[in-house]
Amino acid sequence: MNEIILMKLGELVLKGLNRRSFEDKLISNAMRRLRPHGAFRVYSKQSTMYVEPRDDSCDMDGAWEAMKKLFGVVGLSRARACGKDKHEMLETAKTYLCDQLMAARSFKVEAKRADKSFPMTSIQLAQYVGGELHDAFPHLTADMHHPDLTVHLEVRDYAAFVHADPEPGAGGLPVGIGGRAVSLLSGGIDSPVASWMIAKRGIALEMVHFYSYPYTSPEAKDKVIELARLITPWCGKLTVHVVPFTKIQEELRRACPEELFTLLMRRFMMRIALRVADRVKAGAIVTGESLGQVASQTMEAMRLTGAVCDLPVLRPVVGMDKEEIVRIARKIGTFETSILPYEDCCTVFTPRHPRLRPLPGEIEEAEAVLDIDALVQEAYDGIERIQVNMSEA
Ligand code: ATP
Ligand code: MG
Repeated sequence: MNEIILMKLGELVLKGLNRRSFEDKLISNAMRRLRPHGAFRVYSKQSTMYVEPRDDSCDMDGAWEAMKKLFGVVGLSRARACGKDKHEMLETAKTYLCDQLMAARSFKVEAKRADKSFPMTSIQLAQYVGGELHDAFPHLTADMHHPDLTVHLEVRDYAAFVHADPEPGAGGLPVGIGGRAVSLLSGGIDSPVASWMIAKRGIALEMVHFYSYPYTSPEAKDKVIELARLITPWCGKLTVHVVPFTKIQEELRRACPEELFTLLMRRFMMRIALRVADRVKAGAIVTGESLGQVASQTMEAMRLTGAVCDLPVLRPVVGMDKEEIVRIARKIGTFETSILPYEDCCTVFTPRHPRLRPLPGEIEEAEAVLDIDALVQEAYDGIERIQVNMSEA
């Protein structure tokens, strides 16, 4: 049962970020992610975070997977605690890392000593354990530069720990430390990736989805909810604000030039997102736009959609190629769901000949025939809020 998880914290040293609040946020985020896996204690000491099961019923594999997705952690290892005694550390290394020692061809031992009263130096301890392990696993060669396996021994104030090489953590900053943003989540590949990238920078998210029933099916909505669920292991639990968008689209189709439809629609999305941002006290809007990816994603279009929005619009994938975005989508597990073939509201109403460079004033003129405030208000009043709880996957 005395297996624990050791986590190395990320960027906190760099920014003016207050260390205490970084650690507090990380600990509370970790606690929430661990809840489905049993009762754990989480604390930080000597710039390492410890995740310690309180009893044998804890699911350590589940906890490990959850901690690998925790933003703010740069590296993590599963470790076995033992007494601060060279024999005990050796025995622990032999049994706890047996499989890895058998599988490796070369190894080295690295010892660290925070407890300066420990009777050996780090080098003496590493040499002792290394020598004994070599005798016990004679197939191994010692390699100080590129070993297959490094056996880590850490002598801390209150215990010693034995572990193999740390694995890379999720990186980034603890979610919530940078405030909140509203993310426009469609059913496509880009917006879940964009959301994930902003959450990684420590921003808590609220999702907004524009839903065009009956032009798009309930399955299209379910798909978006599923995408939100898939990113909860990183972002934490999410609310998806589902905005009824059909009325606005029908109004635009009835009253405005078809070539401007996409731009006009995007401006309405921004206005409504802004209302949601106001309600949830968000400081920015996030989209999955990427320059030049489709005809409507130009600087000019971004200027015209940004013009109705006085919050910063964050577009983290703006300079990325599709392949780069797809690579992240695969890594975070949203890709397979994103490519399910349900129509998005944008594809249903796509104009045949979209205008990429409207003349000055043309957009405003097209909108002049609409009661913008009433349309925004009605859509806003019709919002359905769906709470998406943390996925345990
Ligand atoms: P995605 O892959 O994210 O769907 P896309 O390449 O299909 O993006 P667009 O359809 O032009 O691009 O949409 C650009 C961005 O606008 C999306 O990334 C998303 O942030 C937002 N958006 C588009 N449609 C919707 C929608 N129905 N609900 C919420 N946001 C949307
Ligand atoms: Mg799309």
